[in-house]
Amino acid sequence: MSSIEAPVQEELNPFAIAQEQFHTAVRYLPDLDPGLVDYLVRPERLITVEFPIETADGQVQNFVGHRVLHNSVRGPGKGGIRFHPDVTADEVRALAAWMTWKCAVVDVPFGGAKGGVACNPAELTESDLRRITRRFVSQLGDALGPFVDVPAPDVNTNARTMAWVYDTYAMMHPGENNLPVVTGKPVDIGGSLGRAEATGRGVLYACQRALAQGLVDGLDSLDGATVAVQGFGNVGATAARLFAEAGARIVAISDVSGGRYNEEGIDMDAAIALRDEAGVVDGLVGTEPISNDDLLALDVDVLVPAALENQIRADNADRIRARFVVEGANGPTTPAADRALYARGIPVLPDILCNAGGVTVSYYEWVQNHENEQWDEDLVNAKLLAKMERATDAVIATQSRLNGTLADLDRQRGERGLNGEPLGPVDLRTAAYVLAVGRVAGVALQRGIWP
Ligand code: NAD
Repeated sequence: MSSIEAPVQEELNPFAIAQEQFHTAVRYLPDLDPGLVDYLVRPERLITVEFPIETADGQVQNFVGHRVLHNSVRGPGKGGIRFHPDVTADEVRALAAWMTWKCAVVDVPFGGAKGGVACNPAELTESDLRRITRRFVSQLGDALGPFVDVPAPDVNTNARTMAWVYDTYAMMHPGENNLPVVTGKPVDIGGSLGRAEATGRGVLYACQRALAQGLVDGLDSLDGATVAVQGFGNVGATAARLFAEAGARIVAISDVSGGRYNEEGIDMDAAIALRDEAGVVDGLVGTEPISNDDLLALDVDVLVPAALENQIRADNADRIRARFVVEGANGPTTPAADRALYARGIPVLPDILCNAGGVTVSYYEWVQNHENEQWDEDLVNAKLLAKMERATDAVIATQSRLNGTLADLDRQRGERGLNGEPLGPVDLRTAAYVLAVGRVAGVALQRGIWP
């Protein structure tokens, strides 16, 4: 037998990753009933629908979509709808679970949900996408609803898609105020001012707060900081523009077409104009190409992954040279990469805190829809700022508290007969999970397990 062993393949299934993150955190919550733990890690329901549409060229094409309600203890399900060829039931399960913890971290009264249709929007026309949306929503039926499960935009969906979601649901429920069934709508169909840029703005606020709290040695603000942003869609482009407005130098951006680099800083207005016109930033004048892999490895102050899952993994974590990783995307860092970055002293501001600005303003939209109100954008942003700062402080405080009480927690684990390795210090992700799981479990116990 050869003495050379094949490297162990890292687990990249997003739901397995979400469960691993959850189980890591639960070790720091020794009081939790094991049955409750088992309940909280599982989704309440997964609906898979298969349906045809007639595409613009007259062909019949079939699609598979999923909607997961992970947990509704704290309120109706909340979470985006994604259109992407790689959508799977497990990806949607993971994204739904992350929504449960995210809503709890920022303390908005929603549970976690997510949906997705496996399709490639680049190969579909606008009318195809409208039919897919309508068919998907109609087949989900009353599994969606203002007090049941409330979708929002995610990868490759936007305000226009949410208008179709609303319209379809409204056709199925005439004579009711259906506006709160979906958020991220166009502003003149009940959308909230500030929602379109809320996720990127929330990333900015969380990052600024964490820096001001001294999370990164020698970097207390974004003024003059160098920043690389992976993904130039709703989250990445908004974050990049707002970071630049806050004084940062955006040296690299990227999208599905590849990356662009300029050490002196990229003109955000030009980049966004090109993206709006051409769909991608490929060929941006005044910049040179850079691969997505090399962008992640740039020697910058702040790295913002804002594209998809599993970008920072065991096999490239040691290439990361940023001083601070700020997760705009959901699930961009794997558990092995988390451990590697923590060991090297690179803090990661976790997705379930950092990109929670979107769901926060979705909640404000939902409230405005119920009240038939429209709030000023300044009010929305001020409320978002307060939420993000409070949540960031709570996560940092939870990390300090846990790391100061490891011996106590180990003793409690021993008293409860919980086996395993002694507890090690926690990173910010685990701290955010402990905060969130504690809040959801607390509400579950206050309500009492039904019946
Ligand atoms: P989007 O569709 O608007 O943009 C996605 C961007 O990522 C595009 O620029 C695309 O070209 C790029 N991209 C795709 N594959 C890539 C790759 N392999 N390498 C580099 N870039 C790639 O989507 P979005 O709404 O901005 O979502 C981005 C991430 O943020 C997702 O993880 C999503 O779940 C998360 N998120 C979105 C919201 C929201 O409100 N839209 C809220 C919270 C979290």
